[in-house]
Amino acid sequence: MSAPLIELCNIRKSYGGVDSPKVEVLRGISLSIHPGEFVAIVGASGSGKSTLMNILGCLDRPTSGSYRFAGRDVAELGSDELAWLRREAFGFVFQGYHLIPSGSAQENVEMPAIYAGIPPAERHARARALLDRLGLASRTGNRPHQLSGGQQQRVSIARALMNGGHIILADEPTGALDSHSGAEVMALLDELASQGHVIILITHDREVAARAQRIIEVRDGEVVSDTASEQAPAEPAEHLQADDLRQRLDRGATLKGAWKGELLESLQAAWRVMWINRFRTALTLLGIVIGVASVVVMLAVGEGSKRQVMAQMAAFGSNILYLNGKHATEREPGGIVSLDDVAAVAELPLVKHVMPVIGEQLMVRHGNNSQSFYVGGNNTWFPEIFNWPVVEGSFYTEADEANGAAVAVIGQKVRDKMFGAGSNPLGQYLLIGNVPFQVIGILAAKGASSGDQDSDERIAVPYSAAAIRLFGSARDPEYIAVAALDSSRVHETEKAIERLLLQRHQGKHDFDLTNDAALIQAEARTQNSLSLMLGAIAAISLLVGGIGVMNIMLMTVRERTREIGIRMATGARQRDILRQFLTEAVLLSMVGGVTGIALALAIGGSLKLADIAVAFALPAILGAFACAVVTGVVFGFMPARKAARLDPVKALTSE
Ligand code: ADP
Ligand code: MG
Repeated sequence: MSAPLIELCNIRKSYGGVDSPKVEVLRGISLSIHPGEFVAIVGASGSGKSTLMNILGCLDRPTSGSYRFAGRDVAELGSDELAWLRREAFGFVFQGYHLIPSGSAQENVEMPAIYAGIPPAERHARARALLDRLGLASRTGNRPHQLSGGQQQRVSIARALMNGGHIILADEPTGALDSHSGAEVMALLDELASQGHVIILITHDREVAARAQRIIEVRDGEVVSDTASEQAPAEPAEHLQADDLRQRLDRGATLKGAWKGELLESLQAAWRVMWINRFRTALTLLGIVIGVASVVVMLAVGEGSKRQVMAQMAAFGSNILYLNGKHATEREPGGIVSLDDVAAVAELPLVKHVMPVIGEQLMVRHGNNSQSFYVGGNNTWFPEIFNWPVVEGSFYTEADEANGAAVAVIGQKVRDKMFGAGSNPLGQYLLIGNVPFQVIGILAAKGASSGDQDSDERIAVPYSAAAIRLFGSARDPEYIAVAALDSSRVHETEKAIERLLLQRHQGKHDFDLTNDAALIQAEARTQNSLSLMLGAIAAISLLVGGIGVMNIMLMTVRERTREIGIRMATGARQRDILRQFLTEAVLLSMVGGVTGIALALAIGGSLKLADIAVAFALPAILGAFACAVVTGVVFGFMPARKAARLDPVKALTSE
């Protein structure tokens, strides 16, 4: 006789004990099963058959006693090795079929092969062949609820055979079937037994049990009769040997599954579950959607306004400093920055150009058209310092400045208002404060406006002409624009000017020195704090979203406890279950992330229509998406681990 495949010695199992009365379900079962046997375990309902079968199939552990499988003590096997046994050695057939409701017949049959790492093509072919052999060729795509009980049971037999099914454990396989389907299933088991599969059939029906070679009767957790000794099985050569299985167990349990196949399967399963519960899923994802959308929009608005500020800085020139005398107060007379000061500042090594400015709002006339514009006297550095070129005609020259020539360069709006849009006023005269000035150039359109004044409504004349002809020669400049030589040393330049003026003004700080860059930067800082606030909102939404994901995952795990049990019974390792639920959580939050990004783009589009500067940056979008994925991993981990740590039998028998 061959070495036994299964050896139970004095197996006991009891439930309860701590808070419920202790029940002894198995009371010292000893039996051995050899390769090639077809065994029926019979007994009344409640006698402990299913409990025994769960222990045989390594779904459950006995309270005491020893179980040796192919010579190895099962108590010493780790959870991966037990999973290997369930996957490669056993095939379960349950009374209630235990198919995964969301999967098709084919997918249900393929499941053990996925956990065994069998490549897809081979897997599909094998599943189809098995279904074909069991008369279900036309039903491969149907989900369990679309199949009859007999068909479902045949699908579960095909699943049991998927990885070989050396030992078929069938717990009342005909219990829920009509007599015809039941006979079909029994014929199938007979056939499998004759092909060399070990069949352990549990039944309370003696007629069914009579099909087996050996009948073990259990009553109240004890074996009361066993026909084994009477007729030891013949041993055909092709029968699987215990040694062989044992060697494979020693090798195979360390084998890694094919993560790619499993990941794909997890993704498909996750997608399916999400789709089935799409309304619930959508509601739960709102948090992540809002979080991601607000991150993306916030960054886009921040970036947009930053770019706007940068453009403004470029337009005004970030190396420009403004110097003016302090305004008079009741306590002190105002300070004055004189033309002599201008000349002195111009001598400083860090200073590139200096331009005194004097200006006022004046009435300007042409024919009988009379309007008020800002008229400024500036020297010839005007285009460079204000970064404001002439687009038609030319700017006045050093000679014009020296002679106090009555020439004017006008802004685009002045041209439009005084001479008509698109006209050519070059060479014509404007009466500025009753002094005729000849128009010699037109400034580029600036567009930007500061305060209530439109930059393009400006007339520039030589400083000398303004001082002499318009404002009276005694007047000092209103302010001085200073271009620093190096825009990265504006601050240093500022300090040098300050020192010089303090010296020239006998230590009195009766002047102000400012620069646009500082003003614009201050404005940008306000915007930054706004961004920070939006960021906090985004972070909170992501947190809420993450809790939503955790909540839905906990719900899923609870709802699908039985599915988890089925997966474990067909050989899923703990990490397979962990991976599956983590995949689901991540997929969930990825969908939330993508939706959030889409929402953000839509919001950005409407903000643009409302003339708010937005600039979407790819890194920001990817970053937000990554945030969503990380949220999924972080908040999905706890539920996934909870699923992975479920006890197979408890999961399987849960409601
Ligand atoms: P059978 O399959 O022979 O009908 P079972 O093995 O399912 O019997 O159950 C045997 C006995 O063990 C029953 O009396 C049942 O109430 C008890 N039992 C089974 N599972 C549990 C459990 N998880 N906790 C407490 N008692 C249990
Ligand atoms: Mg039972």
